[in-house]
Amino acid sequence: MDLPFNKPYMTGKELSYIADAHFNGQLAGDGPYTRRCHQWIEEQSLCEKALLTHSCTAALEMAALLLNLEPGDEVIMPSYTFVSTANAFALRKAVPVFVDIRLDTLNIDEQKIEAAITEKTKAIVPVHYAGVGCEMDTIMSTAERLGIKVVEDAAQGVLSSYKGRALGSIGHLGAYSFHETKNIISGEGGALLINHPDLCERGEIIREKGTDRSRFFRGLVDKYTWQEIGSSFLPGELTSAFLWAQLEEAREITLARLQIWDIYHRLIEGLEREGYLRRPVVPDECEHNAHMYYVVLSDGIDRSRVLSELRSAGVGAVFHYVPLHSSPVGTRYGKSKDDLEISNFVSEQLIRLPFWVGMTLEEQMFVVDELGKALSQG
Ligand SMILES: *Cc1c(COP(=O)(O)O)cnc(C)c1O
Repeated sequence: MDLPFNKPYMTGKELSYIADAHFNGQLAGDGPYTRRCHQWIEEQSLCEKALLTHSCTAALEMAALLLNLEPGDEVIMPSYTFVSTANAFALRKAVPVFVDIRLDTLNIDEQKIEAAITEKTKAIVPVHYAGVGCEMDTIMSTAERLGIKVVEDAAQGVLSSYKGRALGSIGHLGAYSFHETKNIISGEGGALLINHPDLCERGEIIREKGTDRSRFFRGLVDKYTWQEIGSSFLPGELTSAFLWAQLEEAREITLARLQIWDIYHRLIEGLEREGYLRRPVVPDECEHNAHMYYVVLSDGIDRSRVLSELRSAGVGAVFHYVPLHSSPVGTRYGKSKDDLEISNFVSEQLIRLPFWVGMTLEEQMFVVDELGKALSQG
């Protein structure tokens, strides 16, 4: 067998919606497909306002602009995350302050946040790893007590929830990704979720090259001008047309992924009982979207050997983040308060298994068999 790590799922309607947008002759952003996507995100997440962007990276950069971050301001986040979480804030010369993760969910340890707060702290950026929610009640109450803003990196969290609330809709701002490797895709793509009415108008302006063009089109001003420092963060209409086909089927896609996730979870139980690894943990208050299936190998098991054995058997398993605090830019511009012991351990022991909609039971059994063989040979 030759099993890739990921295969993008297409609903079959993407090309006809793109053809329709082409036929309508509107190719720039904010056409009818973009509006449909905005409405869908607002309805399913109950956020105040949704704005499509060309990536989650762009949505995080918009968040940094919206929060008026200045050089030297501090932003608290996990080190075990994707580059964009920190890069968006570092671009404004803010300082990423790395806090360790929890061993169960691999999300930022909410108990360690307060010790990292100084008078320069302006924001906390929880990352919902694998689409499983962070402990948002604790994070929000810490932030509100100290007057700090919360930006959820919900790149992996579309259609996940925490205590019944959609990820991305709980903090002041939230960011989604529709990158090809995520659950709901448009190649490159993302969205900024604004949950605070005061930030909505500036959000629109920052996304539209710093102009009040959106208000002009709504007839609220008679000409549009340069109002803020912004950029061009919006996607073209062809991308939104593709995304609309995916959003229409987003619930079905998520259910299909949850079935695959549940099968892995059952197949791998035995390996956990034998002490080789541990399986993902989903707290009771979280409903997840089966963004990925990972395992954390027990201490002492050589991950690179396991990965290379899986690969030679044709299983496209991969590791995940090199923690940002140990990256070239992270060491130069970031700060950390503790030794980030769990981030270091997890980044060396975690394996992500092949996962896509349409994966068969036979393929999953093959992956788990090969994983078992690689582990028992160690
Ligand atoms: C994928 C991802 C991003 C970046 O998303 P893009 O849409 O590719 O910019 C940011 N943060 C996390 C946690 C991600 O998983």
